[in-house]
Amino acid sequence: MAKSLLDSVMTICLRRGILFPTAEVYGGLAGFYDFGPVGTRLRNNLIRLWRQHFIESQDFVYEMSGTTLLPAPVFKASGHLDHFTDPSAECPRGHITRIDQLIEEKLKIQAEGKSNTELSEIVRKGKLRCPVCGDFLGDVKSFGLMFGTSVGGERRQAFLRPETAQNIFLAFKRIQTATRSKLPLGVAQIGKSYRNEISPRQSVVRVREFGQMEIEYFINPDNLNECPLFSDLKNVQLPIVTQKVQQEAAEKESTEYSTKLVTVEEAFNKGIVPNQWMACILGNEMKFIPQLGIPKEVIRFRHMRPEETPHYSGGNFDLEIKLSIGWKEVIGNAYRRDHDLQAHMKESQKDLSIDIEGTKVIPHVIEPSFGIERLLYCILEHTYRPKDESRGWTWFQFPLHLAPYEAVFLPLLQRPELEEIARQLYEKSRLLNLSVLYDERGRIGRRYARADEIGIPFAVTIDPQTLEDNTATLRSRDTAEQIRHQLEDIPSLLQERKQRKGF
Ligand code: ATP
Repeated sequence: MAKSLLDSVMTICLRRGILFPTAEVYGGLAGFYDFGPVGTRLRNNLIRLWRQHFIESQDFVYEMSGTTLLPAPVFKASGHLDHFTDPSAECPRGHITRIDQLIEEKLKIQAEGKSNTELSEIVRKGKLRCPVCGDFLGDVKSFGLMFGTSVGGERRQAFLRPETAQNIFLAFKRIQTATRSKLPLGVAQIGKSYRNEISPRQSVVRVREFGQMEIEYFINPDNLNECPLFSDLKNVQLPIVTQKVQQEAAEKESTEYSTKLVTVEEAFNKGIVPNQWMACILGNEMKFIPQLGIPKEVIRFRHMRPEETPHYSGGNFDLEIKLSIGWKEVIGNAYRRDHDLQAHMKESQKDLSIDIEGTKVIPHVIEPSFGIERLLYCILEHTYRPKDESRGWTWFQFPLHLAPYEAVFLPLLQRPELEEIARQLYEKSRLLNLSVLYDERGRIGRRYARADEIGIPFAVTIDPQTLEDNTATLRSRDTAEQIRHQLEDIPSLLQERKQRKGF
């Protein structure tokens, strides 16, 4: 059987130690992955670009770092304790299956928003069986997704956060006061979140520990149509899947959706999105994602159906990316109104409103929430290049600004005089703050393949001609073309390319 794209991508990831199962020597821990040196560089570069694009380019956005463990009342207020569950069913052998996913996959019926009784009925009528052992499935029950523990004594219950957002709501008032901010105020956070997913799968697309990059934009409810980013973003094109399109598809028992291409300005003017701020947030994402090597054609914004969103939502739009395993949500964009601040005010009995010209205002919130590993997986799939006639190996075409290293230095032959020049050039490049590698082992073709496999954009080869004319070849990963340059020019050439890396 032909290998799936996911398997091909994961084969390189494992071979090159980009990412691999946690505690592998003990058989792994389902839903947990570690990143090796190359994967960590990719992940860090992704975070750097995100920080640059969404935080540092806006003077009203601040970053915070909160703890991953939070006391139970936080999640009582946020609703996670009561509602953050997935429908699941157990077979007599103890295998637990996430039922909404099973129904959607096997029966092509939308399961979101249905009660456990309705889902049990669908399982029975659809004759669905345990996907692990084929035995029958029991009644559908709600399965809590948070990891719980206690802090300093059993009575003090605490939970690992299932999203980074709650720290931000709790810290909002302090950050607003400390930064002497008016509205709008954006508070961003990059960190780990934990969800005890019933069926972790598909590499890092669904895991139990993952990174999130979230921003809560706190906005004066009277100014939801006055976004400071509008003039910059108004012409960005947004591919939208409307609720109507989804409704019509559901009537035909289909999950194929057509997209409507509108500009940020049109999306706002025609009321396709709830307000100007939401239009701009989507536009900003549409500017960012294609720069990661993901083509525009595989990106869409799906307006979530009412049964998929909580009652307080003013409109949610998921950014979805098409993968070999189907369309996947990668960013959740939620207009949360004042729900979270109100909920924490009620539970904590603290005033979280702010004073605007003598009036108490509880800001409205719009939240874009990115999953780091899921986005990274999308990048891996969309930059993966299979072997072909011109290149006998698989490789990743990471954009320059994401690639784990800028260049690799290779002496062509195992001769001390070539190795010495290659090393000197490598050291010189490191002093210029370039991320570079030195590789002297194996045949040169094999070394090019190794560099391509981890997406290094340039390879510098020192060969016998170097000893004659002080030149070396600079090989481009994308074209495999080699051009000779003077040795002393090479580090600055690489540096120049690095400087062009930013967005
Ligand atoms: P899903 O429906 O896929 O479970 P969700 O709607 O619960 O996702 P959000 O709560 O909106 O997801 O989380 C925001 C983002 O965090 C998602 O778009 C995704 O990129 C990431 N994310 C959520 N759950 C996981 C997970 N289990 N593994 C990896 N990334 C995740």
